Amino acid sequence: MSAEAPQERRTSVPGLTVTQDNEFFFTAAREGRLEIQRCGDCKTLRHPPAPACASCRSFAWDTVTASGRCTLHSWTVIHHPQDPAFTYPLAVGLVDLEEGTRLVADISGVDHDDLRLGMELEVGFAEHAHGEMLPQLRPVGGAA
Ligand SMILES: [Zn+2]
Repeated sequence: MSAEAPQERRTSVPGLTVTQDNEFFFTAAREGRLEIQRCGDCKTLRHPPAPACASCRSFAWDTVTASGRCTLHSWTVIHHPQDPAFTYPLAVGLVDLEEGTRLVADISGVDHDDLRLGMELEVGFAEHAHGEMLPQLRPVGGAA
């Protein structure tokens, strides 16, 4: 057992794992769109992307473009452990998208003490480590 192992984990910044099932999501994010996977048979939305529908087991799917309007379902403020790809303390929220599924993303532009269950937020995009664009939750109509 090495005493240096935890330090190594803290300083590593993993890149995205892009697969044939999630490539659409990251391509759309680079273009500023939030695309959500939808079952081709029962039409159930699912996120994060997966190869099969959890409701009917179908492998058929397409996507819908989400509006980005959402409400805060839950959140946490992370202080530690820290990853060099983010700024701390880091608020991370779980939101209910108006289309009917959920998304996890970091929250920007809201004082952490002002976060409230059910508050309206919207999804924007921010550049993270390795240059990828990922969803970021922001105040409605606000610049983050
Ligand atoms: Zn289905």
